[in-house]
Amino acid sequence: MKLTDWWRGWRQQRALERRAVPDDLWLDTLRRYPFLRRRPMHELQRLREMTALFLDRKEFSAAGGLELRDDMAVAIAAQACVPVLQLGLDWYDGFVGIVLHPQEVQVERTWTDEDGVVHQFEETLAGEAVHGGPVMLSWQDVQAAGEHPEDGYNVVIHEFVHVIDQRNGVADGHPPQRDLAAARRWEQVMQREFERLCNQLEAGDATYLDPYAAQGLEEFFPVSAEAFFTAPGELRHFHPDLYDLLRDYFGQDPARWAP
Ligand SMILES: [Zn+2]
Repeated sequence: MKLTDWWRGWRQQRALERRAVPDDLWLDTLRRYPFLRRRPMHELQRLREMTALFLDRKEFSAAGGLELRDDMAVAIAAQACVPVLQLGLDWYDGFVGIVLHPQEVQVERTWTDEDGVVHQFEETLAGEAVHGGPVMLSWQDVQAAGEHPEDGYNVVIHEFVHVIDQRNGVADGHPPQRDLAAARRWEQVMQREFERLCNQLEAGDATYLDPYAAQGLEEFFPVSAEAFFTAPGELRHFHPDLYDLLRDYFGQDPARWAP
């Protein structure tokens, strides 16, 4: 064991003791977000410890007149830890702050067309992950994800999967890979599934995945990850190859314990 390993372990142990999530807060979070509590006991314990470390390392702040409560921070931390449960918390080293708004946020966007004319428009956001900057979330949307998990909608998982994607640069739907073979498989499956969704939408067919995923590969990845973690049985049924790809990527098989 290197000294740095010992030091990291010691600090981690201290953080776990200092920031252990109290029983009532933890049980309340599991009750409000049923997709979290389906996993086996040892994984739940791991999730609880990782949640405590997340709370120790990250800074929460509120905006728009929202009063930040402990249950809000625990709900966000616990869900944010789900995608990195096997990958490790250091996948989130690239950012520190989480800014929580009471509801969706209107932001002014500008873009310049090929003639150099600047256009302005408004965009409504339930969440946003800026590369190297804070992760913004709407508390109303964080809550809504707990109420209807079967819809496969989860703003916390969505934004934190963007953070995972940004680990090797921009969020472009090409996150870091274990090796070249994994990267190749990722490109093939993602491209095929993405094109399939676009074709379905073009034909006017109903789709299982949220049509927002057709915005580009950079949105297809987080949208399919939302379904993977919150409605895994459905994703495996409608997109088996995509399910297998995400299972191998995240090192988790949530359909095994889905209802
Ligand atoms: Zn997105």
